Amino acid sequence: MFAVVLFFLAISMAAVPLKAADSVNLIKKTDVTDVISKANVGIKKTDVTDVISKANARIQTPLIYGDIAPSKSRNADPCTATGCKWPKSESYVYVPVQISPLYTQEERNVILRGLLSFHTSTCIRFVWKNVTHQDFVYFYSGTGCWSSLGRQGGLQVVSLMKNGCLYHSTVQHEVSHALGFHHEQVRSDRDSYVQVLPENIIPGNEKNFDKVQTNNLGTPYDFNSVMHYNKYGFSKNGQPTLLSKANPSLDFGRATSMSANDIARINKLYGC
Ligand SMILES: [Zn+2]
Repeated sequence: MFAVVLFFLAISMAAVPLKAADSVNLIKKTDVTDVISKANVGIKKTDVTDVISKANARIQTPLIYGDIAPSKSRNADPCTATGCKWPKSESYVYVPVQISPLYTQEERNVILRGLLSFHTSTCIRFVWKNVTHQDFVYFYSGTGCWSSLGRQGGLQVVSLMKNGCLYHSTVQHEVSHALGFHHEQVRSDRDSYVQVLPENIIPGNEKNFDKVQTNNLGTPYDFNSVMHYNKYGFSKNGQPTLLSKANPSLDFGRATSMSANDIARINKLYGC
């Protein structure tokens, strides 16, 4: 028993958190607004749905729900009840990460800034992976923007393609998937809030709109969630694929960062 305690103590001491120094560096070296505004030149809309659907348009990797990689060993359902949460140790949930060395410093800073945003609002703490960590998230520039749902066991990747996915909202979106969160428009109670228009969906993408028996953690349906696609997501004809039932003219799914509900959900799920 004592050995076990020592072992875990060693692990927690060995965990190197992403430090303030990382964020200081990135603020000094790269003004965030600058990065995003330069990157966005020529792009009219930069919400999560547009970024993800454009980046994923010619993707070959099999994806479900638009940007979720099929799970290695379990149903990509709200797996939070079946073991895909990241473990909590005392007050914090440590999630080991590695970032591909092929990103530029500026690209890396977008990812770091996204990760650190969880530190300021939740008990999630991203730490640099070391030899004692079995399960970890590897960020790299694959084909498109995508992630697995929840902790997979061992190495799991989050793809944030260069020239397509390196936006604060996209980092937060994919990291939220890795923490176990699904898209807002597929949650179990969505039929009370949104109408799906299958006739406008690009053929073959209908499954992205399938409802999931999510655990909504007592938080309200949120059109401003960073996990909500916009009303034209996967549209084949420029017509809406989703409409707000209460207000069909409502524009939504344009979040540029996590909403208060996105943050509240993480804190509830992980008992922060
Ligand atoms: Zn997604």
